[in-house]
Amino acid sequence: MAGSFIKVRCNDCENEQIVFGNASTVVNCAVCGTTLATPTGGKADIPHDIVETVEAR
Ligand SMILES: [Zn+2]
Repeated sequence: MAGSFIKVRCNDCENEQIVFGNASTVVNCAVCGTTLATPTGGKADIPHDIVETVEAR
């Protein structure tokens, strides 16, 4: 599997941002800097609202 991209809405500022579903580094919100995704070794842990999942092509 190539993985997928996930559109996440930041719980703090409602910014919507695309993150890689299997992110290997911490992803921060581009607007407020809160942590959007934390790598777990596999699927990233995303404790925010997931708007939609975009399958990689
Ligand atoms: Zn934010």
